Amino acid sequence: MSTLRVLGGPGTGKTTLLVEAAAAQIAAGLDPESVLLLTPGRLVGSVRAAVTTRLLQAAGGGVIREPLVRSVHSYAFSVLRKAAERAGDPPPRLVTGAEQDGIIRELLAGEIEDGASGWPAQLRPALGTAGFATELRDLMSRCAERGIDPLELKRLGRVHSRPMWVSAGRFAQQYEQVMLLRAAVGTAAPQATVPALGAAELVGAALEALASDADLLAAEQARIALLLVDDAQHLDPQAARLVRVLTAGATLAVLAGDPNQAVFGFRGADSDLLRARTPLVELTKSYRCAPAIARAISGVAGRLPGSVGWRTLQGSGEGGSLSVRVAASAHAEAALVADVLRRAHLIDGVPWSQLAVIVRSVSAAAALPRVLAAAGVPVDLSPLAGPVAGQPAARALLTVLAAAGGSLDDGQAEVLLTGPIGRLDPVSLRQLRRALRRAGTDLARVLTGPSRALPAALAAPVNRVRAVLKAAGQAQNRHRDPRFTLWQAWERSGLQRRWLAAAERGGSDGAAAERNLGAVTALFDIADDYVARTAGASVPGLLDHVAALQLARPAAEVTSGETVAVLSPHAALGRDWEMVVIAGVQDGLWPNTTPRGGVLATQRLLDAIDGHGDEVSARAPLLAEERRLLIAAMGRARRRLLVTAVDSDGGDDAAVPSPFVAELARWATAPVAEFAAPLQAPPVLSPAAVVGRLRATVCAPDGAVDEARRACAATQLARLAAAGVPGADPALWHGLTDISTDEPLYVVGPEDDSAVTLSAVTLSPSTLQTLSDCPLRWLAERHGGTGPRELTSTLGSVVHALAAGPARSEASMIADLETVWAAIPFDSPWYAANELERHRTMLSAFAAWRAATRHELTEVGTEVDLDGIVAEALEGGASEDGGDGLPAVRVRGRIDRLERDPQGRLVVVDLKTGRSPVTKDDAQSHAQLGLYQLAVAAGLLGPSGDGDAEPGGGRLVYLGKPTAAGAAEREQTALGPQDVADWRDTVRAAAASTAGPRFTARVNAGCAHCPIRPSCPAHAPEES
Ligand code: SF4
Repeated sequence: MSTLRVLGGPGTGKTTLLVEAAAAQIAAGLDPESVLLLTPGRLVGSVRAAVTTRLLQAAGGGVIREPLVRSVHSYAFSVLRKAAERAGDPPPRLVTGAEQDGIIRELLAGEIEDGASGWPAQLRPALGTAGFATELRDLMSRCAERGIDPLELKRLGRVHSRPMWVSAGRFAQQYEQVMLLRAAVGTAAPQATVPALGAAELVGAALEALASDADLLAAEQARIALLLVDDAQHLDPQAARLVRVLTAGATLAVLAGDPNQAVFGFRGADSDLLRARTPLVELTKSYRCAPAIARAISGVAGRLPGSVGWRTLQGSGEGGSLSVRVAASAHAEAALVADVLRRAHLIDGVPWSQLAVIVRSVSAAAALPRVLAAAGVPVDLSPLAGPVAGQPAARALLTVLAAAGGSLDDGQAEVLLTGPIGRLDPVSLRQLRRALRRAGTDLARVLTGPSRALPAALAAPVNRVRAVLKAAGQAQNRHRDPRFTLWQAWERSGLQRRWLAAAERGGSDGAAAERNLGAVTALFDIADDYVARTAGASVPGLLDHVAALQLARPAAEVTSGETVAVLSPHAALGRDWEMVVIAGVQDGLWPNTTPRGGVLATQRLLDAIDGHGDEVSARAPLLAEERRLLIAAMGRARRRLLVTAVDSDGGDDAAVPSPFVAELARWATAPVAEFAAPLQAPPVLSPAAVVGRLRATVCAPDGAVDEARRACAATQLARLAAAGVPGADPALWHGLTDISTDEPLYVVGPEDDSAVTLSAVTLSPSTLQTLSDCPLRWLAERHGGTGPRELTSTLGSVVHALAAGPARSEASMIADLETVWAAIPFDSPWYAANELERHRTMLSAFAAWRAATRHELTEVGTEVDLDGIVAEALEGGASEDGGDGLPAVRVRGRIDRLERDPQGRLVVVDLKTGRSPVTKDDAQSHAQLGLYQLAVAAGLLGPSGDGDAEPGGGRLVYLGKPTAAGAAEREQTALGPQDVADWRDTVRAAAASTAGPRFTARVNAGCAHCPIRPSCPAHAPEES
C-alpha cells in the first residue's frame, strides 16, 4: 500500500491528474471496478463525464458497470445498502435536510405545547422559529460528523456547564427514536430497524457497518485497488476515517487537495489527511488563472498562518487583470458592477454565462441581483431564494391543489386570479369583485361554481383559472396520486410554453421565467420524493409536507442558460468563469469573525470536542478561514477579476471597506484612485440609462446644452428608436402620447350585470376628506396605491377604542392601555416605553376634555354608526354618453362621540391622535365634520344615535399634543338649512368626481405623506 499526496492551488490540475491516473491505470490493465474516485458531491457529474470521456478515448469504447466516481456520501450509502442486503434488511432511507428541518420543527412544536421545560428558560422564546430548528439540525449534524452521540453530547454539556447542549442531547435522543419509528412504518417488515438517515449520519453509519461486518470490510478493501480522493481538504473527521479505512486496503491511494482552500471548517472539515507524512507532489502552475490573478492569490496566501500548503502560484497565458474599485454607496457599487458586466458582454463579447458575481453573504447582498436585472443583466438567482412554497409559481400550483383537495377561500381565489395563471391586474380585480358583489356571489364561487357571464376583459382570467381547477379536480377524482393532480394542473395552465418561450428570448424576463421553471421543477421533485417515501400519500399530505419544508431546495449542480451567476464563495467552489466580480468586500462581513453557532454555541462545542477550552481565541481560526475563502473566490476567475467595496460615512448606512481590499489593491494591475475619493454611481451602459441620458440632452431647456450635442443626441435616439429600443421613440414618451381613454370609470344609471354602471356612490367621511384634498391621491389609494397599515395607525385605534367605553375613568382606561401594550409588536423596548407614555398622556387629555365639557355637552353615544343616502340621484342622471347626471350618494361611517348641547342639538366629536391641529378656518370647511353634520341632518344615525335631531356643530379634539390648557379643539359651527344644501352639493360633486376620467392633483398639507408623491405631476417641475 502506498499513499501519495498532491497539493496545489486553484486551477493547477489536481482533478485532471486524478482523472488521468485512473485512465492510465485502467489502460494498463486494472479492472475499472477496482478504481474509486471520491470527489465533492457537486462535482461528481462533471468529473464522471471527464473520466468516461477519457476512458472511451483510451479504450476506444467499452462498458463501465460500476460508478468509478462518487461522493463520499454516495459511497457510504452504497456500503450501507450492501450491509443491509447481507443482513436481509430493507435498504436504508435518506432524508433531505429540508425534511429533517420539518421533523425537528414538529418535535419542537410538541415541546412548546408541553411547556418546553426541557430547555433553558432563555432559549424557550426561540424554539418556535425556523432559525432555531436550522441551528439545532446544524449542531446535530456536526456531532454526527464527529461521531458524538446524544449521550456524549449531554455529558459535554454537563462538563462544560452548557445546559443548551444537555437539552440538545436529550432532543437528539428523541429525534433518533422518531426516525427509527418512521423507518419502521411504511416498510413491509414490521421488525425493520434501519433508520432514515440524514447526510451527516451516513458516513458514521457506514463506518459502523464496516466495523461490525469483517467480511464486508474485507470485500471493499479487496475491491478498491486504486483510491483517488479529490478536494480532500473538505473532508470532515468521519469522512477522513472512512478514507483511511479504504486506504489501508488499496494498492495506491492518491489524496489531492489544497489546504489553502479549506473553507468548510464550520462543518467540521479539516486538512488532516493532507498533512500526513507521505510522499508529496506539489503543483505550482495554475492553468486556469492569468498571471495577474495568480500573483494576487499568492499575495493573499502568503499571509496565511502556519506552513501547510503552497505560498506561490504561477499563472498562465496573457497577463490578465485585477481591478479594485471603492464606491461611495451601495447603489454606486451596484451600478458599477452592472456597468462592468454589461461592457464585458456588449463590448468585449464575453458570454453572460462566463461572468459571475461572488458575494460573501447572498442574503446581505439581496438588492444586488435586482439592480443587475433592472440594468439588463440576466441574473441566475439559483439556488432559489427561500422555501419552494414561497415561490409565486409554486404557490399558484399549490393553491390549485388545495382547491382540488376540497377548499378554496376568498384569499386563495385572489392568489389564483392575480398569480401567474390568472394574471389579473389590481384594477380589474376590483372591477371583478364589484360585478360579482352585484350578482350576489364572490371570487371563490365564481371559480368553483357554475360559470357566469362577465365582460370579456374579466372573463378571460376567470376562465383560465377555472380550466386549471377543473383539470386538477378531475385528476384528483380519477387518481389519488397527488403527482398526477399536480401534473394535470401544470399542463392545463399552459405556463410551461409561456415560460419556455420567455426563457429562450433571454434577458431579465427570461431569467425570471427560468426561476419560475426551476421552482416548478423543484416542486415536482418534492412531490416525487414525498410519494416515494409516504404510504398513503395524498394531496393534503403533500401540501403539509411542502409547507413544512422551510429551507430552499438545492438547485441542480450547475445551472445552464446564458445568465450571470450571483452566488456565495462556497457555492462557487468547483466552477470557474472568464471574469469574476467579488462584490461587497466590507469590514465586518469579509472577514466575518463572529463566532458561528449562535444561541447553541455550536462552534464552542466543536472546540470542546477538539479539546480547546473556552479560553482559546475563536477569532484566529475564523480569520484564517475567511482568508482561505477569499483565495477560493479569487481562484474562480480565469482572465479578469474585479473586487469592489463601499466606503461611506452616511449615518445608518455607514460602511468601511474590508482590510482585504487595501491588501488586494497592492496587487491591482491599475492604480486604485478611489481610496481618497470613492466612486459615485457611474452611468450604466444599459438601454434604459442610455435612452434616459439622450432624452435629457434632447429635452434640456434652451441654452442648457450645446445645439450640436442636442442634434447628435436626437440622431442617436432616432437610431435606437428604429432598432426598437424601449423608450427611445418620442411617440411613446409620457406626456406626449394621447390619453388612452376618455371613458369614465363608470356611468351613472340603473345597475345591471355590467361592471360599469352605478346608481349610487358610497362615501365614508374620510374618503370625502381625501377626495376634497386631492382627487388623484384618492384614485391611487383606492386602487392599491397605499402602503401596509402602519403601527401608528394601530396605536391610534387603541386610543379610540379605550375612549369609546361609556363613562370610563382615566385610571381604568390607562390600566387597560398598559395591558394591551404588552401584545403590540414593537421593534424596540425604548420605543414601546416612549409611546406608552405618550398614549397615557392622550388618555389623560381625553379624560380632562370630557370633564371640562360636561357643563355644556351630554354624551348621547360613542362609536355611533351612520348609514344611508344623503343625496338622491339627480333626475335624468343616466345618459348614454356618461353625461351630466350625478349619482346618489350613500354615506357610511362611524362617529367617535355624539353629544347633545343645551339647545338639544347633536354635536359631532371627532378625536384626533395626530399632533398638528388644522387651522380654525380649515375646521369650518372640514369635509369629515361637514359630512357627519349632513348625516345628522338627514337622520342617518344608527340605533345609538338620535334619528330626529338637528345638527349642533362639530368638534375636532386633538389629544396628541395637549398643552397646560388641555387638548386643542377646533370647531365647525352648526349647519343651517343653506349650509346643509351646500354640503349636499359638495358631497354630490365629490361622489361624481370618482367617475373621472380626469383626476386633479391638488397640492395640500398632506402631500408630505402621500404614497405617490414621487410620481405626482403636481410636484414634478419643482423636483425634477
Ligand atoms: S403629492 Fe399631493 S398633489 Fe400629489 S397626488 Fe399626493 S396629495 Fe395629491
